[in-house]
Amino acid sequence: MQDFIFQGQPSRVVFGAGALSHLEREIELLGARRALVLCTPEQQTQAAEVADRLGPRAAGLFPRAAMHVPIETAREARELASRLGADCAVAIGGGSTTGLGKAIALDSALPILAIPTTYAGSEMTPIFGITEGGLKRTGKDARVLPRTVIYDPELTLSLPVPLSITSGMNAIAHAAEGLYARDGNPIMALMAEEGIRALATALPAIRRDAADVAARGSALYGAWLCGTVLGNVGMALHHKLCHTLGGSFNLPHAEVHTVVLPHAIAFNAPAVPEALVRIGRALGLSGSTSAAAALFDLARDNGAPVSLREIGMQAADLDRAADIAVSNPYSNPREVTAAARPAIRQLLQDAFDGVRPT
Ligand code: NAD
Repeated sequence: MQDFIFQGQPSRVVFGAGALSHLEREIELLGARRALVLCTPEQQTQAAEVADRLGPRAAGLFPRAAMHVPIETAREARELASRLGADCAVAIGGGSTTGLGKAIALDSALPILAIPTTYAGSEMTPIFGITEGGLKRTGKDARVLPRTVIYDPELTLSLPVPLSITSGMNAIAHAAEGLYARDGNPIMALMAEEGIRALATALPAIRRDAADVAARGSALYGAWLCGTVLGNVGMALHHKLCHTLGGSFNLPHAEVHTVVLPHAIAFNAPAVPEALVRIGRALGLSGSTSAAAALFDLARDNGAPVSLREIGMQAADLDRAADIAVSNPYSNPREVTAAARPAIRQLLQDAFDGVRPT
């Protein structure tokens, strides 16, 4: 048994189909009276229902959450919260909306109640990101961790199938890298393996029937587990590559994770055989298929993109992407020094072409 440090994060999770009905009780338990509801423009109807449910406990609605949390939006929302006398924020949506809640909490210490409707997992992490002058600054701060999270699978029925699949692959990526994290621990390994298993079973069922509440429940359960792993242990090469491709080349978040994951896992495989066994077991692998190939198949067979080309990457940018990835790398089980640049460049080429890793 390896030595480890485990520190639980202080958040309360309420899970279940129909769990939104506990919202008022949960706001009361936070000691709050007036909630500012946050959402993206696309989820305004869903958020208005939440505000209606809150009645006089709703201070107002801010429907302008946006990808990568522009600082101007965060300031606007923070000012509105203060003007309306809000004493908590309810963030209903995916990682972009949760991210806005976090940006508000960072400066105001307003407690956040998150109601996630994708599988991105931000609600379980103390990690924030704010974009100012075109640059995304990320950091870790305990104040931004949502105090309460309500997971209600019924709220995810409207998540389009393509985004459900890529968002699920995004969640699996947190768990896969958590299994070989430098600061990993046995609890996170259990959660990671179970999270991958839950999502790998749920995604094909969601593809068959987007309204399958049981499958939606399994996927959200998996997202919770994988998000918890992301919030507790450090990520490695895969996340570095995705931050590079998302941040510098403006590729869509969940899709880029989906495409890169099999290749990052194939790259790290020789250095982390135990993690690979666990990923394979969670994917129900038998025979000679590798975990990396099985992840590729999971995405492809469920209609997700498998090449960077099809999600908008330009071939001419691959060299620059490789340069950025090897400069200032995250800790990784297989060292990513300048000497590894040719291998990283090849990894990116394979991801660009959509080659199935063997
Ligand atoms: P997103 O929040 O940007 O959502 C994508 C779109 O789907 C939005 O228009 C949203 O309104 C819509 N949507 C969400 N749920 C829906 C539903 N149930 N029905 C219909 N439409 C729905 O996408 P995301 O992938 O959840 O989040 C991505 C962002 O989150 C990125 O900026 C990423 O960096 C960040 N993120 C942060 C962390 C962290 O720990 N800080 C973790 C994961 C992701």
